[in-house]
Order: sequence, then structure tokens, then C-alpha cells
Amino acid sequence: MRAKQITDLNRLCIHTITTKPWSIETAAQKYAKIGVKGISVWRNAVEGKNISRVASMLKNGGITVVSYVRGGFFASYNKKLRQKALDENRRIMDEAAELGAPLIVLVCGSDYRQSLEISRKQIVEGIAAVLPYAKERYIKLAIEPLHPMYADSRSAINTLNQANQICEQLSSDNVGVAVDVYHVWWDENLEKEIQKCAEMNKLFAFHMSDWKTPIIDMLNDRGLMGEGCIPIKKIRGWMEENHFTGFNEVEIFSNVYWSLNQDLFLKKIVKAYLEHC
Ligand code: ZN
Repeated sequence: MRAKQITDLNRLCIHTITTKPWSIETAAQKYAKIGVKGISVWRNAVEGKNISRVASMLKNGGITVVSYVRGGFFASYNKKLRQKALDENRRIMDEAAELGAPLIVLVCGSDYRQSLEISRKQIVEGIAAVLPYAKERYIKLAIEPLHPMYADSRSAINTLNQANQICEQLSSDNVGVAVDVYHVWWDENLEKEIQKCAEMNKLFAFHMSDWKTPIIDMLNDRGLMGEGCIPIKKIRGWMEENHFTGFNEVEIFSNVYWSLNQDLFLKKIVKAYLEHC
């Protein structure tokens, strides 16, 4: 089944990091004005702010808080740092609750000083340790598999299959997956794993951007949808075939786009969303 052409912005959500030069107040106002319905709030966007005030600002602005980004970083060679990460994740959950975010995206962490197997074990233990705290606050945790180029330091969870396995192992309604096309588009098992994830009711979130060639910066050179080689529409089709009805979230970190006039960039995002997603 091919994904139906997108004709409105009802399911469009933007991550605040995408328009990093804007304050959260400006971003919320501009998103709402152009017709964007959802916002995923990055932690840096509310740093030093009164979060409940931000929450009511968003609510009054008629924009839905889709997720809080991000928790995780459970893996570490150092036991003290692992403990610290758990405390930090609980703080993040408190912030998400105050913000009214129903979901936290997890970048699970990795440490090049130890094996990936050990990091993966620590990730499972870490999520299990903070899970009761998340449940008490009705917050869902979405494991985001990251592209293997980040396996040394950002995440030892690199395929949807690995994320699905953790979901299976933890077997909690509060733990699921964020499918980010930037990280998983290359995976020959992607369609099958999306289906498996859906069968477990674990398709929690869907993130979009594009993969440019060549990539100039491993972190901050993501492309606008349609600008690269990711079959976004095809992947969205797989999500929807498997009954995903959540937001289509645009998440672009780009030195190029951050240096652009952000009003112009927002218009480009909406155009790219309607044409290439
Ligand atoms: Zn993402």
C-alpha cells in the first residue's frame, strides 16, 4: 500500500531543535500560525524557564505537546555516572509531567570503553530502573534506535529489531519505540520490524528528515525532506499500514538551516512536508 498523499497539516509536528534560533514562545506562535498542530519540546528550549508557564502558553496557543526530548544515556563504563543518569532521567520525567508531555524520547547511550553488549545490558537495566517512576507520572518512554554511526557514544541500540527486543523483554505498556527515518532507513528488515513493533503496540512515534550526500557533519547536517535519499513516503506508508495514527514529526538538526531566516525555513518545512512525506 502506498501512503496517501498528505493534503493538510493536521498531523504535522515540529521539534523545537529544528528551529533552534527561536525561543519556545516564538516557535509555538509561528508553528500555530502556519497551521502546525504539534510540538516536540527539546529540553534546552525550556532550560531556565518556568515549565508550567510554558505548558499553559502552549495549551493556550492551541498546540499539542507530542513529546519531550530527550532522556536516556544509560550506558557508561562508570558506575557513578550510570547512577547519575538514572537521577537525571527522573528529573526529565518530572519536567515532562509538568509540561504535559505524554512521551519521552530515549537516546539510550553507549560507551566506547566497553562492549556494545555491556552497553545494551546497562540500557535495559537503566530503563527498568526508571520505569516505575515513569508509570507513576503516566509517561511513555520511546526507545529511538540510532544510526550505527553513533554506536560508539550515543546509542548502542542501532536497529529497530534491537529496540523491539528490549520492548519484548521489558513488556511494559509504558515502553515503546520512536521510529526515526534518519536512523533506520537503510535497514533491509525495516518493514518487517515496523510490523512486529506494531503487533506489540509499540509504535509510539515517527520522526522525519532526510539523508544528504555527502554528510558534512555527523550530527548537524540533516536534510529537509525530499533533499536526500530516504524513502520517507514509503516508510510512512509502512507505519500507516500498521495503524500508526500519531504525529509526523519533523526533526532536523542543521547548521545550514539554523543559519537561514527561520520564517523562510518554516515555509520550506511545510512545503517539503506536503510534497515529499
Ligand atoms: Zn528522532
